[in-house]
Amino acid sequence: MKTNIEGKEHIITYIDYQDGLPHSVVTKFYVEQAEKGAYWRAANWFFFVEKNDKKDIRFYNSGSGGNPDKIDAPQWIDDYVGNFWITNGVILKGKVKNGKQLSMPLEFDTYSGKSINPFEFAEETTSYEYCARCGNFSTEYCKEHIYENDDGELRYMDDDSIID
Ligand SMILES: [Zn+2]
Repeated sequence: MKTNIEGKEHIITYIDYQDGLPHSVVTKFYVEQAEKGAYWRAANWFFFVEKNDKKDIRFYNSGSGGNPDKIDAPQWIDDYVGNFWITNGVILKGKVKNGKQLSMPLEFDTYSGKSINPFEFAEETTSYEYCARCGNFSTEYCKEHIYENDDGELRYMDDDSIID
């Protein structure tokens, strides 16, 4: 499945899901570089729902590189079964743990429309915050549980612990 990210064509090679929504996605894209010669490069994407709103999907580039046609086998914790989809021609390194392979990517619903392409209606973000108190991800820190002190540190309100 092809998609366009920041004006560049990517091929989606791997998607895994949490609660039916994309969670970890791998793409590959063609890099034309004079010194090294042109090559395919993998990119990793982390998807999350904004403030627990399951129709508001965001994604973050969590790095790139590695062999685009060999992806580390996904592993999930015991008592959980993760769903994943992988494109033809890309293989898994290692053994899948507690995962079930899907024959097709899952379609999911957003405010802007329904798609099996995780990028189509999701919004890219360059940073995200996690709140361990409510378990929500967001593009901004959780104002309900977290505050910023005079030194610009983010801390939890309840026990004043610092956020990494
Ligand atoms: Zn919170």
